[in-house]
Parts: sequence; structure tokens; C-alpha cells
Amino acid sequence: MLSIAGQIPGEDKKAALSDDVDSSSMADRVRNSQRAFAEKRGTEHGARPARPGTATDGGYPPAPLGRIVAHGAMNAQRDALCACGSGLRSCRCCELDPAFAASPEARDRLDILARCAANALASGDAVAAEAGSLDVLDIAPRFPSALWVLYQIRRRAGNEQAALALLQRLVAVEPNNADATQELALLLFQRGDLAAAEHHARNAVRLAPVHPRSHNLMGMILTEAQRPHIGEFHYRRVLEITGARDPILLANLAWNLKCQGRIAEARELYNESVEAAPDIFETLFGWGQLEEADGNFAAARAKLDRAAEIRPDGPGLRVARATLHARQGKLAAALAEIEPDPDGGENGASTEARNDSNALLEKGRILDRLGRYDEAFVCFDEAKRLAREITGKHYLDQQAREIADRLRRFFVSDRVRLMPVASVREGSAQPIFIMGFPRSGTTLVEQALSAHPRISAGDELPFIGELSDAIPRLFGSPLSYPEALAELWMGDNRRGPETLRDAYLQKAELRGVVKPGSTGLTDKMPLNEMHIGLISLIFPRSPLIHILRHPLDVVLSVYSHHLTHGYFCAYALETIAQHYALVMDLVHHYRSQMALRYLPVRYEDMIEDMSGSVRRMLDFVGESFDERCVNFQDNRRLPQTPSYAQVTQKLYDRSRFRYRHYRKHLEPVIPILKPAMDRLGYTLN
Ligand SMILES: [Zn+2]
Repeated sequence: MLSIAGQIPGEDKKAALSDDVDSSSMADRVRNSQRAFAEKRGTEHGARPARPGTATDGGYPPAPLGRIVAHGAMNAQRDALCACGSGLRSCRCCELDPAFAASPEARDRLDILARCAANALASGDAVAAEAGSLDVLDIAPRFPSALWVLYQIRRRAGNEQAALALLQRLVAVEPNNADATQELALLLFQRGDLAAAEHHARNAVRLAPVHPRSHNLMGMILTEAQRPHIGEFHYRRVLEITGARDPILLANLAWNLKCQGRIAEARELYNESVEAAPDIFETLFGWGQLEEADGNFAAARAKLDRAAEIRPDGPGLRVARATLHARQGKLAAALAEIEPDPDGGENGASTEARNDSNALLEKGRILDRLGRYDEAFVCFDEAKRLAREITGKHYLDQQAREIADRLRRFFVSDRVRLMPVASVREGSAQPIFIMGFPRSGTTLVEQALSAHPRISAGDELPFIGELSDAIPRLFGSPLSYPEALAELWMGDNRRGPETLRDAYLQKAELRGVVKPGSTGLTDKMPLNEMHIGLISLIFPRSPLIHILRHPLDVVLSVYSHHLTHGYFCAYALETIAQHYALVMDLVHHYRSQMALRYLPVRYEDMIEDMSGSVRRMLDFVGESFDERCVNFQDNRRLPQTPSYAQVTQKLYDRSRFRYRHYRKHLEPVIPILKPAMDRLGYTLN
């Protein structure tokens, strides 16, 4: 349990442990953090990275290995070494018995040994430090200072798994250790485990609220987790606390603002950052991507070229340059950029290997545009295989099925009829829900509708999911969502829907997404359709616009991108189809059990007749037609999602019925999608 009573260390706070062994300065840490951050952002815009950052932390020499072998050989006779690579026996490491306790008599001797190990590390003798910490931990596997020493050795050697295991053990033993907590948040962030990273970063802020590193971590993690508005707050706290304008922090903040679509402010910060520190790869790389997103291709090329001079094999660089070519229609150049060096040049191959999943997807999309469909599909297959291998992620089918079943059982007409619903709060922009499976065209619809002077673009608002998580707590229920909604029948919770409504509207206000004079605010969080039952209690009058697209096109498009929406279904072809079927069945159920203000809109119809589709949607929303909603390509607002490139270009017919080129590859998922296709009236031809 985290206990923070009496522990509010300030910036000068340093855990006793770190005094001995960790001399890295704040600047180094920020720099290292940014390195991790920038590697991650080499992934596709807005999409969740499919690959962990590297653990190699520049500037640290790898720990010598000689002594480990000797030590391991000795232990191996008694017990196998732990598979995590810590160098400890597994019974003293990942398979440690929770009840195991070291003898108290050993304590004094261990104290001295551990101190020696820490001193050895501080003076650069990694071999002695390693041997000492291994000895201590073999007797007392939870000895904090020895865990900290061995953790650092393993991290510097790039042994990510062991580093993580040791650090997690340390934080479990010492939940109030701010340094270790920060470090753990960073490590998890580098591995791409954003949820776990956020958990520990929040603990870091609780433990060390005026330590810049705590806030820097929150800034990085929340930016990556697509809540950049919160991330911005924490970056700005770092600026306040340090009173300095660190160029790397400015570059990170610039990237954050870019993610919020605040291009001009972001550019200004990049300018300031580069003036102070002109030779930082990550900064120029990020700036280049900003210019690319904003359509300034010459400026983008200049920044990326400059980045390449600094670090020719910079992670993500090839993909970014290929993307830039592709956006300008130079497909051959794009392909040449992304194809591996035919001579098998060693340079950069290892760095780039980490990126392969993203590079392969980009390559596949380029091949698709060149009409080389079979080759494209091979790239998608390989990219997904790599992503699964590197991240270990796969569709959480049981979780998805369980929640869908419970929603279906809870939201039935007899029960829904008894539920109190919220009234409309006057004077606030009302949400317009644009729902749909990822890659169905929700971005396109939001861009069109928000070009209307009375409609603001909310982008992907996570509020419905957040509220559903908060419901048991809010209503003091022993049940979870959705069953906890039964509390609405209690006298003290009868105004519950209004509480949820106000919480949603307040979150929207805090985010600053409502333009003055707006009556509507779009929320295009994909898969909000899972929560139609909840939404209809909170906003019974809000329009639900459901974007439909040929299921095979949806599956194909999701397969050619990295997304983490939908319980990680995007990591395999079949699971995308499974999740699609699950969600569409649930929508079908909701529609049969309750009266909804629901409008289905087909993506194919929009391509055919944008003006007519927009007219229909505005009519449904209750707004008058506005020409700007059809010519929305002039709208310069950048959404955070990977669809931005398509949206900022004119609509292309090639995005319609693309599945026809991939029929044979999609054969395995047709039976899964068939029922939904029949219901929606989509055929196979
Ligand atoms: Zn282990």
C-alpha cells in the first residue's frame, strides 16, 4: 500500500539510496526520458506504438559479464538461475515465496555488504557491485539498496526484463521510494506499458509533488496515452518548478501541443528549443513530423534532413521520410526510402529492427497504393506478427466478451424503462456522439461537422470510459459497471445521471475544446457504441451518429495500422473481425431494447455524395446546412488520429471496397463477419 503520510519531499529530496549510487543529474534524466519518448514517437501519428522503446540508455557502458558467469555457475548447482536474467536464483527472484524472510541476524552484515556494492557502483566498479548485490539478494531477496544496485547494473547492460523485475520488487518493498517509483514509471513507459507507467507516475507525483521528474513523467506518459491536455499541465509544472526553459522539455511540450493540434504554438517552442540546442535529433525529428502533418513538405524535409545529419540511423527516421514522400504522391521514392538496404548494410540495421513493425506497415500501405496488393498484405502480416512478438499483446477476448455479455444482460427494455435519465443542462454545448469501429470514417465525419460554426470538435474524448470506471465509486456500489447502475434506484442516487452528465460536461470544459457560441460538441471516441446504454441515460437527447463501412474494408484498414482500441484486437486479422462482430451485435441489442436517437451513416455514401450525407447529419443534429461542412478540407484543424492525412486530402474513391483486392487474404474472416454484413446490407462482390 502506498502511504504518503508525512512524506512530501521537495525537489532537494533524494532517497538515501540514490545519494550513494545515482549521480545522474536532472538534465540527464530529462534527456534520457526524451530519448525514450522520441523513440516512441517515431511510431505512427496518434497510433499506439506497437513496440517498446529500447532499454539501452545512452551514456552507460554495459556491465562486464565475466563475473556473472562465474557466479551463475556456482549457483546453478543448487538451483536454476531466474529466467528474467537478473543473475539471481529463481527462488530468490521471480519465484520468490511471498512468505520467505531472511534471518534477522544477517541484517548487519548485509547492510555493510550492500553499502560496499553501492560504493563500488558509484566508483565505476560494476563487477564488484554486481557480485556484492547478488550475494546480498541471495540471502535477503528484498533488500532495497541491493535491489537498487543490481537494477541499475541490469538496466545499463540493456537487460530490460531483469531490470523491470528488480525494480518492481523494490517498489513493492518500498512504496514510498520516490526515486524508484519514478524510475519504474519511466521503464514501463519505455516498454510501452502506458497504463502501468501512469499508475506509478501518479504515485511519483503523490510522493514528490514538487519534483520536476514526477511531472515530466506524467507529461510524457499522458501525451503518449492520448490525453495531451493533462500532459501539458504537467510539462508546464516542470517549467514552473525549475524556473528554467530546458530545450528538451520545450521540445517535449511542443510535441504535446502538436498532438493537440496547436500547431503555431508548437512551432514556436520548437524554434526556441532548437535555438538553445541545435543538434538534438529528437527535436528536429519531431519538428519535421509537425511540418509534415501541417502540409509544409519542404520545411518537413529540411528538418528531417537535418535530423539525419545528426543521427543517420535515427529511429523512425526512414519511416518518417517515406511517409513524407508518400504524402506528396512520390510512391517510388517512398518505397526506396523504406526498403531495407539490398546490400544488407549493417549500419542502422539493429536500431531499425525495433521499428520494423511500423516500417512494414508503412511499406505495405505504399505497396497498396502502387496496386501491389499481395506484397502489401505480406507486409501487414509480418508487421502484426512482429508487433505481437515484441509487445506480447494480443486480443483480450475473454474480457471483451465478458463485458459485452454483462452489458447485454443489464440493458434490457424492462430495466431500462425503470432507469432515471438526466435532463438536458441548458447553456452547455451538447455532445454529439460520432461512433464507429476504428477506421470507419469517424474522423472524416467529425471534420465535416465541426466545420459548422456552431459545432466544436472534441476529438476522441475518453470521458464515457472514465465515467463508467468511476460509477461504482460515485454511487457507493458494491457492484461494478454496468450492474452498479442499479444504485440509481436508491433515494440518494436518484440524481445520478445528472451527476454523470455534469462530470462529462466539466471534463469537456476543462479540456478547452468548446468554441464560443457552440451548441454541439463532437465526441468521436471509437467504440463508444459499447456504452450506448450508459450514454442514453446521461445524454438521452444527444444524437448518436453511427458510421458504418463495409466490414471487410474496416478489418483490412485496421490491419494496416497500429491501434490499441478494442482490447488490442488489432494485433491479428481474426481478432479484429471477432471484435467487430461483438460490437455490432451489442449495438443491435441496444437498438432492440431502447429508443435511441440513432442515425446510421455509411462511409460509402459519403464518398458518393458528401453534400447529401452532411445535409442528412446536420438535419439530424438539428443544425442548418452550412457549405463549409462540405468543403472541410479547408479546415486546418489537425485531428490526433492517424486518419489525418486522408482527411486533409480530397476524398479518394480508392478507399471504398478496397477489400476486393484482398479477397483471398480475407477469406478466413468472412464467416465471422457474415452475420453483421447481412444485417447491415453489405454484400461480397
Ligand atoms: Zn527473476
